[in-house]
Amino acid sequence: MPDATPPIKDCNNIDLATLPMGHHQCWIPLVQNGIGNWTKVPATIFKSRIPGPTLLITAGIHGDELNSVVTAQRIAREWQGKVTSGCVVILPLLNPNGMLRHSRHFHTADGDLAPYNLNRGFPGNAEGTLPERYCAALWKLIQGIKADYCLDLHTQTKGMAYPLFIYADKSIPECASIATLIQADMLLDDLGQIGVFETEMNRAGIPTLTLEIGAGKRHQPHLVTRAVEGISRVAAHLGLMHQTTSSPLIPAQSGNAVTDVRAVKGGFALGRVEIGDNISAGQILFEQFDSFGNLIETYCAPIAGIVASIAEDPMREPGGLLVRILHSDTN
Ligand SMILES: [Zn+2]
Repeated sequence: MPDATPPIKDCNNIDLATLPMGHHQCWIPLVQNGIGNWTKVPATIFKSRIPGPTLLITAGIHGDELNSVVTAQRIAREWQGKVTSGCVVILPLLNPNGMLRHSRHFHTADGDLAPYNLNRGFPGNAEGTLPERYCAALWKLIQGIKADYCLDLHTQTKGMAYPLFIYADKSIPECASIATLIQADMLLDDLGQIGVFETEMNRAGIPTLTLEIGAGKRHQPHLVTRAVEGISRVAAHLGLMHQTTSSPLIPAQSGNAVTDVRAVKGGFALGRVEIGDNISAGQILFEQFDSFGNLIETYCAPIAGIVASIAEDPMREPGGLLVRILHSDTN
């Protein structure tokens, strides 16, 4: 039996121009599945009586990235009554389809279609496959919000870990200033990739950052708290809410390139370095063992830099990521 709490209603879009001021929650239907049920995403909106910019916070486009979803949900709880001007729109769970399957991807019932990485498919195709239509429906919803800034929250994928890590195109001045306020551990200054939400939003003229919050399929309260604090500093900087802290800003360790070290064999890979370590070229990063425990491969750093991401799950296939090294490339 359903409980007596009235269900949160559906709405077809988010039209901030006509929405009354206040705190709103709704489900937004995006596409139907193969039995005609709608895949819906939750939305929280804070609209102040005083005009100001709109900040969009998105999370969970990859369904195995719990810290990002929990961070966005915590902001949706804790910012009630605190948004003093402008609007904040929070879409904390963009891929419920993947979340239900503990999966990064969007899954369909079509036997011809492989699981789909939504964060390579923007702006989507409204007449394509179901995942392409899903991307198009999300893109239409998000463009309709007419946000001025966006923060897209992620984590590493299941079995891998990041620290608090930003992908930002610092050639966009708004992205550069927001990135500093987050107070992440590390930052990659790059132009992004075609089809990635952050890249396509920046191309559409909406300054957007990707914030990676730790490891996939885990809840890491300390990193979530730091992410909430960083996003609150951004909101205060944009004039949406009062400043909560005035501690001095510490620059993230930054680079403009990453180099991945991947397994060349299948087996159990054990790290000999940790996230944040400064490593030198030639330093041992991982040792890999077969199913008997025999050493079968040693992986060394091809370049000096900082360990930005590392495999936490030792079982690695050939081609599986072991270490992502953040460094500077002058070419
Ligand atoms: Zn992700």
